[in-house]
Amino acid sequence: MAFESLASKLQETFKKLRSKGKLTEKDVKEAMKDVKIALLEADVNYKVVKDFINKVNEKAVGQEVLESLTPGQQVIKIVHNELVELMGKTNTHINFASKPPTVIMFVGLQGSGKTTTCGKLAANIKKQGKRPLLVAADVYRPAAIKQLQVLGQNLDVPVFTMGNNINPVDICKNSINEAGRIGSDVIIIDTAGRLHIDDEMMNELKEIKEAVKPHEVLLVVDAMTGQDAVNVAQNFNEQIGIDGLILTKLDGDTRGGAALSIRAVTGKPIKFVGTGEKMDALEPFHPDRLASRILG
Ligand code: GDP
Repeated sequence: MAFESLASKLQETFKKLRSKGKLTEKDVKEAMKDVKIALLEADVNYKVVKDFINKVNEKAVGQEVLESLTPGQQVIKIVHNELVELMGKTNTHINFASKPPTVIMFVGLQGSGKTTTCGKLAANIKKQGKRPLLVAADVYRPAAIKQLQVLGQNLDVPVFTMGNNINPVDICKNSINEAGRIGSDVIIIDTAGRLHIDDEMMNELKEIKEAVKPHEVLLVVDAMTGQDAVNVAQNFNEQIGIDGLILTKLDGDTRGGAALSIRAVTGKPIKFVGTGEKMDALEPFHPDRLASRILG
């Protein structure tokens, strides 16, 4: 299960702290050392961990906390609040255009779950009574178009493709006319990924962004890849500019590093998380719920 090791270590640390009744500054600092190790072991970015621990220490070692009736409980509450702060306030809404169509551009590396997540978001949006159009702009991976067509068929969502012998920028531009023609109000563009970041991919994405002026650029990253996901996010954000992230494969046994670091490193919110391969396995991201789950 995701975050299992982190959760069990933190819960153990806080159990000890709670059992003490009265706390000294030294007790708190020692507990925070354990928290620091647990976060680093969960693959949270080093700088993020350092800042986090400093903030908690600053708030937790004051007289007010130490002399309160339940100092252990107070410290846990501070850690909880700082965890929520770290992951950002919930911001799961999609920025729909006031005048349709809304254009949502998906970006991400190959294998991150981008195509699957395009389908999931289409399903989610359709449930809200909107009429999504999926756009196949990955012309390089042979099976990508077919994969999107199959998803569209299963979801009863139209898929716009112009084959793979055409510039993806043109496909994206044309998809806007197509949306007008068939009455779609939300365009979801599945762009091409690569195994690694390269200039060619970034340039193509920049061109598409410039051409269609999306209302949302969503980056899909695989939670299982830990700090790599954070580096990828930083890179995409610097080069393309993203509005938010979707963290996939949270149903796996990720240690948690990406979920806990990405917001602090990139300044961009995780909007949704993927929790399985099925089309309904997409959930809005709730930092407070995750913090509660981790702290038990
Ligand atoms: P793309 O190359 O980024 O378009 O990736 P795909 O959409 O083809 O997904 C790659 C693999 O990850 C597929 O086997 C998906 O079923 C799987 N996948 C995507 N999202 C999730 C998720 O949230 N959980 C799990 N367990 N698998 C996922």
